[in-house]
Amino acid sequence: MSDLVDELRAALGEGCVFTGEVVRDRNGPGMPPCPAAALLKPDSTAAVARTLALCNAAGRAVVTEGGRTGLVGGTRTADGDILLSLERMQRIERIDPRARTMTVQAGATLQTVQEAAEAEGLLMALDLGARGSATIGGNIATNAGGNQVIRYGMMREQVLGLEVVLADGTVLSTLNGVLKNNTGYDLKQLFIGSEGTLGVVTRAVLRLRPLMPARNTALVASRSLTQVIALLSFIERELGGRMNAFEVMWNSFYRIACRGPHLGAPPIADVHPFYVLIESTGSEPAAEAEQFLAALGRASEQGLVDEAVLAQNERERAAFWAIRDNIAGMIELLPVAIFDISVPVTAMESYLERTGEQLRSLLGELRWVVFGHLGDSNLHVAVRIGREEPALRHQVEDIVYGGLAAVGGSVSAEHGIGLDKRDFLHYSRSEPEIALMRTLKRALDPRNILNPGKIFSS
Ligand code: ZN
Repeated sequence: MSDLVDELRAALGEGCVFTGEVVRDRNGPGMPPCPAAALLKPDSTAAVARTLALCNAAGRAVVTEGGRTGLVGGTRTADGDILLSLERMQRIERIDPRARTMTVQAGATLQTVQEAAEAEGLLMALDLGARGSATIGGNIATNAGGNQVIRYGMMREQVLGLEVVLADGTVLSTLNGVLKNNTGYDLKQLFIGSEGTLGVVTRAVLRLRPLMPARNTALVASRSLTQVIALLSFIERELGGRMNAFEVMWNSFYRIACRGPHLGAPPIADVHPFYVLIESTGSEPAAEAEQFLAALGRASEQGLVDEAVLAQNERERAAFWAIRDNIAGMIELLPVAIFDISVPVTAMESYLERTGEQLRSLLGELRWVVFGHLGDSNLHVAVRIGREEPALRHQVEDIVYGGLAAVGGSVSAEHGIGLDKRDFLHYSRSEPEIALMRTLKRALDPRNILNPGKIFSS
């Protein structure tokens, strides 16, 4: 085992290979020790290529990590694995303001990329709560979603080109910079969302958008899901495609999320069944504000909104989002099972009703909260399971996932599959689909060294 680590040390240099305590503590305080044999921090694509060539020759598993903010165990290591971190590869290599592209190394954090784009008057359109730690490579490997998908799409839509190191150390450079490129298979798409199982992303060309300086944010309350869904269509049309976010919080979530030492009085104190955070951006502050207000006014006249508060400044806007992002409040539900699912909006009400009934009959008493990116048909659900018992947790998962196929939903909307959802992949993917995934995996990684056992068992 140590032979490979010695070889890696010789190939990469002493300072790039870590063993012992640094590796054991990698999972952070209070977490089980990391059982990887070594942690590698290569500083170039060539060094990543050398790493994979050696690990492939030795048949040793390589788990690549980004900012470690994933939620499905996608970077969990097994005994003897080689853990690969790209944290030394954070360089923003080039921003081309006229072509609106950025070339960046995979270890850069999302926030660094967002800020670098903004400095040029441009927007990196992906945004999510973990922006400060999540890396571009991780965002690509998991096809991250987040808060602005309704307008700009998921990570896949922000990637024009990729540089990827294949399992045997081959560097595949498809650093394309144009939006349209129909030259055979679009190979980069294979790696986006592959969770480190088909290659290691080392660099990317990102598509940037114009930065929209005028932003309007409202928190509104509604009395039924039907009303919320009608509001979604209405506002989307009224704002002419400039809606950035349509985040819905069920009252169960809102009540918990409004509590917290860092939060002031709730912006809407009265109890309503649903709260919706709506945000739009545009180029002209005065015109944008007027249109946003008028759209909300008309929604209210049509009975789609029962109460509404507008953020008057950035501080108030941040306060609205702090409630939406306050998942720390979920601690009240421990031990809890957390879900990231897609359900078509037209089936949401009946799906939740049925699922709730089944959970109630399993658990006796049901405490759960629902929130999420309703504009993307993406719900986050947290269910209090009462006692920490693997069999019971699995039963809860089976109920939540089991009803999705019938309504055309998905067991993962934006978090991926990793290890934690592997047993449930078949609810969303057919046998032929999973068989084709295995064929691709074997073709690109015949020795099964890249994040083995993630997404499906190998
Ligand atoms: Zn989310």
